Amino acid sequence: MSNDDFPTDRPAVVTCGLPYANGDLHIGHLRGYIGADAFNRSLETLGQETAYVCGSDMHGTPVAVNAEQQGVDPADFALEWHEQYEETFPKFNVEFDNYGHTHDETNTELTQEIVRTLDEAGHIYEKEIQVAYDPDADQYLPDRYVVGTCPYCGAKARGDECDEGCQRHLEPGEVENPESTITGNPAEYRQRAHKFFEVSAFTDYLTEFLDGLEGTSNARNQPRQWIEDGLQDWCITRDMDWGIDYPDAGDDETAGADSDGDDLVLYVWVDAPIEYIASTKQYSERVGTDEYDWERVWKEDGDIVHIIGRDIIQHHAIFWPAMLEGCGYNAPRGIAATGFITINGKGLSTSRNRAIWAKEYLDEGFHPDLLRYYLTTTGGLQQDVDFSWEAFQEKVNGELVGTVGNFWYRSLLFAYRNYEGTPDADVSEEVRERIEGAIGETREAVNDYDLRGVGHAATRLAQFGNEYIQGNEPWKLTDEEPERAAQVIRDCVQLAKAVGVLIEPITPDKSQLLWEQIGEDGEVADAHLEDALEAPPRSFDEPGELFEKIEDDRVEELTAKLEERVEAASSDENESDEGETETDDTGADESGDMTDTDGLEPLLEDRIGFEDFQELDIRVGRIESAEGIDGADDLAKLEVDIGFETRQVVAGIKQLHDLDELPGTNCVLLANMEPAELFGVESNGMILAAGEEADLLTTHGDAEIGEKVR
Ligand SMILES: [Zn+2]
Repeated sequence: MSNDDFPTDRPAVVTCGLPYANGDLHIGHLRGYIGADAFNRSLETLGQETAYVCGSDMHGTPVAVNAEQQGVDPADFALEWHEQYEETFPKFNVEFDNYGHTHDETNTELTQEIVRTLDEAGHIYEKEIQVAYDPDADQYLPDRYVVGTCPYCGAKARGDECDEGCQRHLEPGEVENPESTITGNPAEYRQRAHKFFEVSAFTDYLTEFLDGLEGTSNARNQPRQWIEDGLQDWCITRDMDWGIDYPDAGDDETAGADSDGDDLVLYVWVDAPIEYIASTKQYSERVGTDEYDWERVWKEDGDIVHIIGRDIIQHHAIFWPAMLEGCGYNAPRGIAATGFITINGKGLSTSRNRAIWAKEYLDEGFHPDLLRYYLTTTGGLQQDVDFSWEAFQEKVNGELVGTVGNFWYRSLLFAYRNYEGTPDADVSEEVRERIEGAIGETREAVNDYDLRGVGHAATRLAQFGNEYIQGNEPWKLTDEEPERAAQVIRDCVQLAKAVGVLIEPITPDKSQLLWEQIGEDGEVADAHLEDALEAPPRSFDEPGELFEKIEDDRVEELTAKLEERVEAASSDENESDEGETETDDTGADESGDMTDTDGLEPLLEDRIGFEDFQELDIRVGRIESAEGIDGADDLAKLEVDIGFETRQVVAGIKQLHDLDELPGTNCVLLANMEPAELFGVESNGMILAAGEEADLLTTHGDAEIGEKVR
């Protein structure tokens, strides 16, 4: 937590999870790319030197399995998708400084070099393990070639990941009841020698690393739990052709595993994050190290920020920093892990066509900035967002059309008609202070990795502008008090410009159009926050409206189309997952159906009467304070105000929540629970929470503290 605020005098790099080059992009993926793009642009408006890099993930079984099913070479298959992504991102104003791919020379060389360094430093060892094997197909079954049961939570899992259950990374041989996805037959386990990276040796380092890590709290708290459970070493090789070869150990006697000529490539999660470095290197080589020095960023003192989906936290907050530390590279400064996008509460699914496709969105004629605004300002980064066209319409019509667009248009039109531009007057003290306030809010939001806060600082300023123009009624003043009228409109033009600068990271196109409407030269993207206070040019042309209302009949039509699709998706819900096409390195996809009951506790058969329920005295409370209990791994002591009194409660949430963020939030408390003593601390009540992550129950309306839940 000792980092100085952005902007720093060090170069930064912003990355987002690499998309697997194996299928169409949908809005779930775009949340990550747009989010990271908006964050990078936000840093730039603060004056931070930064680069935004990414690349396609060409390797791994997600690509190999799909290529095989289509009977094509995985390299050709992946390259085709890579090229499509390269074309798609700019259409959403996602502007990478470099977009590479993991199969290119830069990444291949860098990956081998890093693995060699880790090996030489003694962080890699060889071990015999049990590997799934399909005797009919006569091949080993790495990762997604095998499905089975998660040994930790019992959910249906892939060979490498408990994707529908606890989201743990699974090591080869861990999945129970393994089945081949090639033939559907039960797989056998065979003994094989593989390479392991000793993550466990980095336990102390990682604990300290997490304490200093910025970003979203889920990226710190989940890994803390994994560390608590004990870190396992990480198998970094696979029996496959497709991938980056394990580097030649030269004349070293450790050549072992592949000395018999079998294929052994690096696990995809080794070379995928190294692409962040490789892509930065390519950028640096293109613009010159005087302008941007990748080695300074990655090896000296750069500010590294990863924006990822929450299902790949373990790869980024455990394996990756351990690898970087092991080979002498710099640790990430921040990791922000986004929630998923759902439709009707269910995760998006590529194979089931339960998605809004990137191309489809554009084909419907919507401007990309609308989606950018919707995705970045609906809910916090960590929260899941349930997409509906109605919610999209409400956001767009309410905040972009009604607030921002309306203010821009009415103030500029009035200025144009009466003054042919910006009236000759100084900005009032009130408006100057209001703009300075919004700049401060933006700066704070960026440092909190809070994109919604960035968007809202701008929309609130526009809201102020609307109230200001309405309250001062300049149209009544032009004849009687011309000076006063000029003053009010001068303020409004300044506010319009300021909103344009502040909202640029989220709606870059629309901000640029506004920039041109007020007669500014160059790119609003190059403006810094302070430029919001610089006087706009004296004259400009007649403005046009920049946002257009989405009509109800459009929404009805789109909703009907989506519902039909969701229904079709649900009807083949129970079909085999074999052949699943997905693109979810970003964690945006296949988040698991919320209504899928795999892994849920069964419903109780026994019913209770209303009287029994009445015996539970459940109250609305407000958490006043929260602190961990010394010596107890999971327990926290909370003070909860329940109206009549403040209760001390012990709850098993220490690892699962950022305790500092809890005070002030409403909770739901079982007040007549028998008191108990835990670790010497009295617990007088029980706060209610759902699921393994202890999602705390809260209220959403105006229920008062102390009110009974019935
Ligand atoms: Zn699991």
